[in-house]
Amino acid sequence: KKITIAIDGHSSTGKSTVAKQLAKELGYIYVDSGAMYRAVTLYAMRKLFVSDTNFDKESIIRHLPFINVKFIFDDELGYGEIYLNDENVEKEIRLLEVSQQVSKVAAIPQVRKKLVKLQQEMGKDKGVVMDGRDIGTVVFPDADLKLFMTASTERRAQRRYKELKERGDEITLDEVLTNVKERDHMDTTRDDSPLLKADDAIEIDNSLLDLEEQYEKVLKLAKD
Ligand code: C5P
Repeated sequence: KKITIAIDGHSSTGKSTVAKQLAKELGYIYVDSGAMYRAVTLYAMRKLFVSDTNFDKESIIRHLPFINVKFIFDDELGYGEIYLNDENVEKEIRLLEVSQQVSKVAAIPQVRKKLVKLQQEMGKDKGVVMDGRDIGTVVFPDADLKLFMTASTERRAQRRYKELKERGDEITLDEVLTNVKERDHMDTTRDDSPLLKADDAIEIDNSLLDLEEQYEKVLKLAKD
């Protein structure tokens, strides 16, 4: 049987770490749906359709047919990296500048429609673990296992800060915390597919668990 696992939650709850490990262990593909929204945002930023001072929604919608996002599997990594029109943008999409614009772009219904369709196709013929905001509610409402991950705002900001620092980004914890809060707000209040816990999702609060404990808990659920 082809199994679908949906992992939703706020940013930096450790969703992707858990999802990647789970996919590897179970031999499923891993899809980072947030990377797809980030790639579309990067395209829009490069065209100057979106910035701190500009949001040209119509131009973004008009350009959607020319925005091609896909994952190319990397044997060594064990998962796919994201490509925007045949360019590997895995690193660039994680920049704080992109994080600051992505939730605006992700609120455009036409953008969501395009990406949700792609996501559903990716889960068609293989077992898949997908993480995001609307996977258990919109993309795969019939998923076999749904997880909803939470953690305190401070803990999440710390996690993201550490990741960005390790990449060599020049940022402060305060900037990251502000961004996490802003995205939480935009992701939960947008009209189209706001971040919501599906009724049948299992909530995992990892504020108090370390990654290892958390992963053990999830793996047990997936194997049952
Ligand atoms: O998962 P990540 O934090 O990289 O996602 C970046 C942003 O993309 C989120 O803050 C949200 O605005 C958007 N997103 C979304 N729906 C998803 C995944 C991500 O709207 N399924």
